[in-house]
Amino acid sequence: MSVHIRFLGGAGTVTGSKYLVEHDGQSLLVDCGLFQGYKQLRLRNRDPLPVLPNHIGAVLLTHAHLDHSGYLPLLAKEGFHGKVWATPATRDLAQILLPDSGHIQEEDAAFANRKGFSKHSPALPLYTESDALQSLKLFRTVPMHQPFEPLKGWTAQFSGAGHILGAASLLLEVGGKRILFSGDLGRPDDALMLAPDAPPAADVVVCESTYGDRDHPDEDVLAELAPALQRVAARGGSAVVPVFAVGRAQALLHAIAELKASGQLPHSLPVYLDSPMAIHSTELFARHLGEHRLNAAQCHAMALVAKMTRTADESKAIARQHGPKVILAASGMATGGRVLHHLVQHLGDHRNMVLLTGYQAPGTRGATLANGGTQLRIHGQDLPVRAEVVQLQSASAHADAGQLMAWLRALPQPPRRVFVTHGDMEASDRLRHRIEAELRWQALVPEHGSTWAV
Ligand SMILES: [Zn+2]
Repeated sequence: MSVHIRFLGGAGTVTGSKYLVEHDGQSLLVDCGLFQGYKQLRLRNRDPLPVLPNHIGAVLLTHAHLDHSGYLPLLAKEGFHGKVWATPATRDLAQILLPDSGHIQEEDAAFANRKGFSKHSPALPLYTESDALQSLKLFRTVPMHQPFEPLKGWTAQFSGAGHILGAASLLLEVGGKRILFSGDLGRPDDALMLAPDAPPAADVVVCESTYGDRDHPDEDVLAELAPALQRVAARGGSAVVPVFAVGRAQALLHAIAELKASGQLPHSLPVYLDSPMAIHSTELFARHLGEHRLNAAQCHAMALVAKMTRTADESKAIARQHGPKVILAASGMATGGRVLHHLVQHLGDHRNMVLLTGYQAPGTRGATLANGGTQLRIHGQDLPVRAEVVQLQSASAHADAGQLMAWLRALPQPPRRVFVTHGDMEASDRLRHRIEAELRWQALVPEHGSTWAV
């Protein structure tokens, strides 16, 4: 009986990761992500899956980022009632991220209805906060390196992927085949996260390629961050930093704490962490000691360096503080969240700075800023971009092309095939080419929706 993989997302794009594995009348989903970025991509979230949700036996999550987990509340709402397997830290993060995602869906729909700029009337949220809370009941946690049985006769095991707290690669054994999903791989030299584990032997590998066409510069985050923040403070401006609430927010806080401790930034420079989600995930670092590089004292210092603003009123009050400041707010690609009102307030003044801190998917406001856009559309209004835009090259949570190749080279034996996923076309195809040219393995970039026998 053969094993098939259907690429229902994360193929030809970095978002919407969803890999359906089928064997002998049973199936499970590896990751259950939302499409983000371009509208054509986001509309895919509204398309029905090619398989009924109540026919899917289980979901296995490599990590909690919404492009890997954010479709789960909808899947559950539409009838999925199997177990959702994840590491404990991934479950803890999903408890923060999924309800917030539902809340944002509701707010966006309400906003569109109020302003009347939705083509659908009324605009309906993809799912609600309460749908998200329901889906959390399906979670079962399993530690790294411990084999488990997601379906009868199927074996699975998570191993460390670096990237963010709880992030894992996943080895799935079914029908005599070993399929390895890389998940999102972190950098071996990350300041916060541990290096990814060496991959186990597999027949087939599904490998991410976010930075498949690029290598990160050698510069470290402190060396890049210090002059940017010194510059903006010296001219009396403020820095708005769109951050991924989980991962980069903590990397930035840790870096700012180090810069203040070493005197490269004045202790008096106010720093705000304006994201309840990022505040919660910062707290999780102390709860998951040993799963990252920080000790208890460093977790404490990271949490103390910023003023944590939880309520909407506290968030709005930041604008009334005169003088230089640094505002970290989600979301990381400025697709939503509190960072939007900080951008509205700060974009028009050349003394200010927008500091981009990670991958910016095409079609997002972050990508528009990174590409030198002179206008930015927020809440139906076009705003001129006069603030300086800086993109930190060193603050990525993803392995670069050389590091992805090194991870693949560490496989104990050549796999029969590598599926290159989770990248823009250019990035995926470049990595595919390198795998074929340098390793002489068969590699291909699967089309969205395509099915392959393993
Ligand atoms: Zn991720």
